[in-house]
Amino acid sequence: MSLRDDLYKEVILDHYENPRNFGVLNPPARQEKGMNPLCGDELELSVELEAGIIKDIMFQGKGCSISQASSSMMTEAVKGMDKKSALALMQKFKSAILEDKEQEFTEEEGDLEALLGVKKYPVRVKCAVLAWNTLEKALEE
Ligand code: ZN
Repeated sequence: MSLRDDLYKEVILDHYENPRNFGVLNPPARQEKGMNPLCGDELELSVELEAGIIKDIMFQGKGCSISQASSSMMTEAVKGMDKKSALALMQKFKSAILEDKEQEFTEEEGDLEALLGVKKYPVRVKCAVLAWNTLEKALEE
């Protein structure tokens, strides 16, 4: 195991143990549920949109460390973004993890890069993209 893998593992564990934006937002925030039956991951996302901007976002859930850490990282990354940028970031993350495309993540985009090691384990990839697929549903009109 390389030093970088160790560092990434620590970042994932940190998000799992200290999830960011954990909780529920009151209506009129949108609520969306996501599930990954393969692993048993569950996710409930609240998104407060104002004039196309993700003003606030929170999640609750249970499941493996990858799914919960990924949700925490996703909320941290997209909070304050407009819908279009959030969906573009989703595409970027998904292309990196699903298609093994080389992508650079900026500081503002958070710790997403730490999850990319998961692409070596196809079963866990679904855990990592659950948060993003649920966000996409939540942002639909
Ligand atoms: Zn999982």
